[in-house]
Parts: sequence; structure tokens; C-alpha cells
Amino acid sequence: MIDPVLPTYARQPLSFERGEGVWLFTKDGERYLDFAGGIAVTVAGHAHPHLVDALKTQADKLWHTSNLYRIEGQEHLAERLVAASFADTVFFSNSGAEAVEGAIKMSRRYHDGAGNPERYRIITFEGAFHGRTFATIAAGAKEKLTKGFGPMMEGFDQVPFGDLDAVRAAIGPETAGILFEPIQGEGGIRALTPETLRRLREITNEAGILLILDEVQCGMGRTGKLFAHEWAGVAPDILAAAKGIGGGFPLGAILATEKAARAMTTGSHGSTYGGNPLAMAVGNAVLDIVLADDFLSHVQQMANQMRQGLEGLKDTHPGIIEDVRGVGLMLGVKLRCGPAQMIAALRDERMLAVGAGEGVLRLLPPLVVSEDEISEALARIDKACGALEQNETDK
Ligand SMILES: *Cc1c(COP(=O)(O)O)cnc(C)c1O
Repeated sequence: MIDPVLPTYARQPLSFERGEGVWLFTKDGERYLDFAGGIAVTVAGHAHPHLVDALKTQADKLWHTSNLYRIEGQEHLAERLVAASFADTVFFSNSGAEAVEGAIKMSRRYHDGAGNPERYRIITFEGAFHGRTFATIAAGAKEKLTKGFGPMMEGFDQVPFGDLDAVRAAIGPETAGILFEPIQGEGGIRALTPETLRRLREITNEAGILLILDEVQCGMGRTGKLFAHEWAGVAPDILAAAKGIGGGFPLGAILATEKAARAMTTGSHGSTYGGNPLAMAVGNAVLDIVLADDFLSHVQQMANQMRQGLEGLKDTHPGIIEDVRGVGLMLGVKLRCGPAQMIAALRDERMLAVGAGEGVLRLLPPLVVSEDEISEALARIDKACGALEQNETDK
């Protein structure tokens, strides 16, 4: 008999009742160190008092009105995101896929509005993950995501990750833009170098096509900047954000320049829930935290400590850890075993982490993580490596 919950996930045998900061608690009161962070979502940790207060206060007043009316929290959050980023305008959605999907629509509409409706194709990178809707699985083009779902949406040209020559060769008279993650998350924490990002900006400028970034995972302070592309000193035309932006409340956003967004006229796009008062109360509260003085430098400091610790563990456990990669608190540990084994070993140490492509373990802690909690995480990873080595010897 089929499970009442559609069985599309391979879930861990764990369930949590409450959380506090970087810790999660089971019903039995067992405490887990959460370096999965709800997959890069809970940037402020669990049950952050400022977020809880914002949600409760709004819940007592008003939840939802639809976008038929002005929403003050939306205007406020959009203004703040515009002030803090490259963008001139923001559209709020409920998820990452919805934001990426909207970004794709916007790029096609831009060229249509500029008198080039034939420009609808989008270049993407191998290993990409952009979501689970029809457009975003076609953009990601991974067989695991597309198999059995019938004809894929047309208009995506995939090239090897970060291959500039392949990008140049793929650009044609029908190209609308290039869409990619500055740091691939699901693909295995693969970062483009700042230099590559700058080249891609030059290439898109020269070709008159749009640079569209998927910062659903690497944005919102994760790398120690509000958005990851800031490390390269270049700006995109359109950017999709989600995950961290709501700190655990479902929220996504499309950020765009005035030029890229100019064809998105009244009636061209919408979302019933997108940017509703509840989501906006939490979104503004998350931004209070992420934009507070010293928050991003805190992320950078914690990232340095974590990175150094992991490099040390690589030296102590060369049979387990092959490589350490990533930027900020979006870190990947390339393992010689599969990530599943490591995730199980970490679970025995009461610590959570996430798998990714290329045999990589992803570490995505809440950005409020402290020095002591990083040390604790490193100690638990050390023990898990030890246990895996012991398994090897026992064989
Ligand atoms: C998670 C993710 C998405 C999809 O977000 P959902 O909220 O699950 O729809 C898209 N792009 C990237 C890079 C992601 O990490």
C-alpha cells in the first residue's frame, strides 16, 4: 500500500519536535547539531526570537490579502533589497523554483519587448540544479529529474560547468541569456572563480544577452556577502533568491535591474500567495539580522574557522576526506566513501549534514553559528571519520 505521504523522498529515520539556534531536539529530548540548516534555509537558526516575534505579531493582525492590494511589508522588503543589492525591482514568490521560473520568463519577455522575440534560448551548466517545475528541470537537464516526465520544455542549451569557450560557441541568434548558480549546491559545492564570473559578464554584455543568477542556495549571506556574485565585483541582470530569504518561512524572490524587468508589465506575471503579509513580516525580520552590522563578517569568521578545521581533518583522515571546497558557510567535503555513509556516521554523533553530487558532504549551518558550535561540529566530524576508518579496518 502506498504511504499516505507520497514517497518521493528518501528520509532519514529522524523526526524533530523543536529547535533552538543550531540545535534540533527529538521528542525523546535527544539533541542534534544541525549543519543541514534545512538545506541552507534556516540562516537565523531555529526559533530565533526576532523571527518568532515578527511572525506572531503579524499573525495576530493579518495573514493574507492577495496582490490585488498594496502590501506594506512587501514595499518595505523590496526597497531594502534594492538598496542592498544590484537590483532596481523585486517580485516575491513562494519558493526557489518559482523564482527561477519567473526569472526565465522575465528574460524571454525582455527580448520580446526589445523586438527580438526569437531570443528565447537559455544556456545552463552541467551539474546545475534549478528546481522541480517543468522549466527548471529542463534547465537542470539531469536525467534523475526529467526521466518519465514526457517532452521537456524546449529552449535550454547545456554546456560543461564554467567552460567559457563552450558558452561562446553556444551563443546564437536565439539566445536570451545564461542561467547558472555562482556556486552549485546540489551539484556538489562547485564554485565558479570570480574571474570566470567576470568573463561571463563580459561575454553576455558583448552578445547583448542577460546574465541570470540562481542564488537560491548561495545567496542571503551564505558566503559572507549578501549575494555570492558580490565576491566577483560584477552584477547580474536578474537573480533568483529563496531558501535563506525566509529563514524557514516559504519565500522566494526575483531581483532584477530596471532594464531587464521593463517588459514585465501589469498582468504579465503573478502569484496568489507571493509576498503575503505573513511572509513579508518574516522576510523583513530575516533581513534585519542578515544586514545588521558585523553579521556578514561573523559569517566570514566562522567560515574561516570551519574551513581551517576541515583542512586539518583532511590531513588527519586522508583515507576518508579527499578535498574541502566551497565559499563561506556553504562548504563541501569531498569524501572517498559515499556521502550516505558519512551522513549515517554523523547521525551516530548526533549531527546533521546534507549529501550532494560528486560524493560531497554539504555543511550548511545556520549563519548564527558560534565559534564553540563550529568546534563541536569539527569534533563530531572527526569522530565520524574515526568510526568510518574503524569500519574499514574491521572488514
Ligand atoms: C533549492 C534550490 C532551488 C529550488 O528551490 P525550491 O524552493 O525547492 O523550489 C533552485 N535553485 C537552487 C540553486 C537551489 O538550491
